[in-house]
Amino acid sequence: MKITKIIVIYVGLIFSFQIGIAFSGPHWSHEEQSKWGAIEDSSQTEVPLMYPYAECSIGKHQSPIDFAAAEVNREKKLNKLRIWYDVDNAPVFYNSGHGIQVNTSLDYKGEVEVGEESYPLIQFHFHEPSEHVVGNKRFAAELHYVHVRADGKILVLAVAIDEGEESAAFQTILNNMPGLGGDKNEGTGIKIDPASLLPINHHHSGDFYSITGSLTTPPCSEGVAWYVLPEPITISTAQLEQLRGFYTNNARQPQDLNGRAILTE
Ligand SMILES: [Zn+2]
Repeated sequence: MKITKIIVIYVGLIFSFQIGIAFSGPHWSHEEQSKWGAIEDSSQTEVPLMYPYAECSIGKHQSPIDFAAAEVNREKKLNKLRIWYDVDNAPVFYNSGHGIQVNTSLDYKGEVEVGEESYPLIQFHFHEPSEHVVGNKRFAAELHYVHVRADGKILVLAVAIDEGEESAAFQTILNNMPGLGGDKNEGTGIKIDPASLLPINHHHSGDFYSITGSLTTPPCSEGVAWYVLPEPITISTAQLEQLRGFYTNNARQPQDLNGRAILTE
């Protein structure tokens, strides 16, 4: 195994813990999201360590956002987004305590490329309802593909989910997800192709909206590159009910833009 891959996995694990579950910090919940920044870590005695989620409150580039409120800057063009997902032979079905998540296996090679830069896919997870909104329109759910580069830089690819046709890949995830927060189901022999959850026209590339933002859960760290596909996928009404059976209302409210514009390719 190449050293770069080992570093990617190591950094990836750290970030997947931060994104997925608060192993490294005090308890939080989506109900009290307006107060995340004020949650104290009682094991610390000095500011700012006492407030590990302060960025949720004082950050100026927070996610998600309302796309209808943002201007699209068409002057500055971004590099194309290329999606190179493949079948994962040993995905881990992980109930993070805040959502349902699939962690890719350690030797998984799926990634996205933006220009010369590649970002390995570490995990993907679901929010219900959607976190990104377009004016009054909130989607039934939202899928986040989380990519973490060796230097720690994070890129999240977001896909809106509508109620409609059933998704076979999503059913596989629901069927194998443990019921209890913190539990993992691994070594199942079940394979998952993360691309099977992408909109049909976006299996390898496609148009997108991009904005700089943050993790949408504590510690709300900024510097995250968000790529949002304009086309939703669908899951059935029964599947949406099953998703709600795990977690409902695990979505953060849209955050102030503070002058940020949306970029596209
Ligand atoms: Zn998310």
